[in-house]
This record gives sequence, structure tokens and C-alpha cells, in this order.
Amino acid sequence: MAKQRVLSGMQASGLLHLGNYHGALENWVRLQDDYECFFFVADWHALTTLFQDPGKIREHTREIVLDFLACGLDPERSAIFVQSEVLQHAELFTLLSMLTPVPWLERVPTYKDKQRDLATSGKDLSSFGFLGYPVLQAADISIYDANFVPVGEDQLPHLELTREIVRRFNFLYGDCLVEPKALLTRHKVLPGLDGRKMSKSYGNAVYLSDDDAAVRQKLMNAVTDPQRQRRKDPGRPEVCNVFAYHRLYAPAGRLSQIDDGCRRAELGCVDCKKELVETFFRAFGDIRARRRALAGDPGRVRQILDAGAARAREVAERTMIRVREAMKMGWRP
Ligand code: SF4
Repeated sequence: MAKQRVLSGMQASGLLHLGNYHGALENWVRLQDDYECFFFVADWHALTTLFQDPGKIREHTREIVLDFLACGLDPERSAIFVQSEVLQHAELFTLLSMLTPVPWLERVPTYKDKQRDLATSGKDLSSFGFLGYPVLQAADISIYDANFVPVGEDQLPHLELTREIVRRFNFLYGDCLVEPKALLTRHKVLPGLDGRKMSKSYGNAVYLSDDDAAVRQKLMNAVTDPQRQRRKDPGRPEVCNVFAYHRLYAPAGRLSQIDDGCRRAELGCVDCKKELVETFFRAFGDIRARRRALAGDPGRVRQILDAGAARAREVAERTMIRVREAMKMGWRP
């Protein structure tokens, strides 16, 4: 039986950090076992906030592709590509935007929040593209007849909008597009180095592209239990960010020893952080080695993206033939 199809992408508005890895990428790697997967770097989406600085998008795109491949997205099993290299996304976006009511876009809960947050950074977000990005997202998904989209709870309203747009399209032009479903998956949550959500805008992230010195420096400066002022003060692992990282990376049996040592003030924070640095490098050793090797072989990476885009275009074009016909585009005698 043909596998069902999954589609997901990462916006090239920034580098990928450990929060992105544990929140999405790690899960995508597993999905490849059960689904036919399409994974892309959304560089057009990044233009909604970075249109004045497109050079950054190209840099991020390169780094994100390296992250994808190093973390285990497998070009033999999945199509891995860059959004702007599959022009059919833009064509479907144009057509879907004709039938999407503006109030549907204005009511997306994140629209006003994001506009408010980003406005404080001095960015101009009054563009048509920024308002319309959920339509581009709907095109990204429907162009591949995706059955499932892996999402977190916070992204459900976006997917619901895609489903509404698809339903409206099918109502107007006949059953043509597939209505995608959410693939709600459990994922690990990792706080930022200061305890807030890990985010590039908070400056509290460890990036998959960080070199050894940067990782070491960031982890050694992570915020710990604020009540543990002196070495002899007992600590509370449950409020410590370093311990949250140990939870993910400590070898079996060691976590309870760290917990105990912290509470009894037998383990100092500096030693605890040094241990974290070592376990982190062990946990990510293979990924970081693969990343370095790929970074040194840009020709191979380009080949993978070419093959991924070719596969994506083939599927996307089949959808567009149906869509153009459904919308009565073009004319032939
Ligand atoms: S010993 Fe470790 S777990 Fe305890 S407060 Fe210090 S860094 Fe956190």
C-alpha cells in the first residue's frame, strides 16, 4: 500500500537551535520510517520578515539544509528542497489568494501578536506578503496532496486555515485538493539558557551550527537555580535549566546522581555544567561530525537539493495540472 504523505518546512528567518531539533526535526527523522516525506526550507516565508535583508535568508538556507541532513533527514527516502526552487508553490499561492477572504487572515491569532512583537524590532510588517503568508502555507501543503502535517498545538489555527481554504476551493471548483490533517506528536521541550522559551530573539539559544567554543561558552553561562548563591547552598534541580538539559542528555542512571548531588550541595554548578558540556558533545557527536563533513562538500549538498527539487516539482506539477483545469485556466481550441 502506498505510504501516506507528510509535508513540513522550516522558515529561513533564522538558524535552527536545539529547541527546533527536539521540537520538530528529531520527530521528522522518525516520520521517514512510516510516511513519504517532503521537507523544505521556506525561504519565501522568510521574506515576509526579512525582505530588506535577503542575503541573510540565503545564509540561513544553507545552514538549515546542513542541519536537516546532519540530523538524519535522508535524501534517499525524503524529498529535501528549497521552496523557491519549486515555482508551483507560487502559482498555487496566487490562485488560492483569489478565493481567500482577507478577514480569515486577519483573525489568525499569531498575526497581530507577531506584528506587535516584530514592530518593536523596527521591521516593516505592513506588507501584503506578511498578511498573506498563511495562504502561501496552504499552497505549500496542498501542492503535494499532503495527508498530514506535523504540528504543535500552537500551530493548529494555521493548519485549520489551510483546511478551510482547501474546503472553499473544493466547494467552488470540485473535489481537487486534499484536506490535510494535523499529526500531533509528542516532543521534548527544552528551555532556553535563561529558562524562557528557546528563541533567537531572546538570545538564549544553542544553535545546531554553533562551533565547540560557542556551545561550551553558552552552556557554562546558563542560568541555574537562583537560590544557589554559594557552593554549599543546596540546589533545586527542578528549577534549574542546566538540569533540564541533563534530563535529555545524561546517560542512564546518572540523572538521579546529579539530582542528589545538587540537593546535598555535593555537586557544584561549575562541575555540573562541565559535565553537561561533555555529555552534550557525546549526544551530538555524530550529528556534528556529519555536519562538518557536509559543510566541506557543497557540491554534494547542491546535488541533494537538485534531486529533491526535481522530485518535488514532479509531484507539484501533477497537482497544478488538476488545479489549472479545475479553475479553467488557459484556452486551447
Ligand atoms: S548543581 Fe547542576 S542542577 Fe544543581 S543548580 Fe547547579 S547547575 Fe543546576
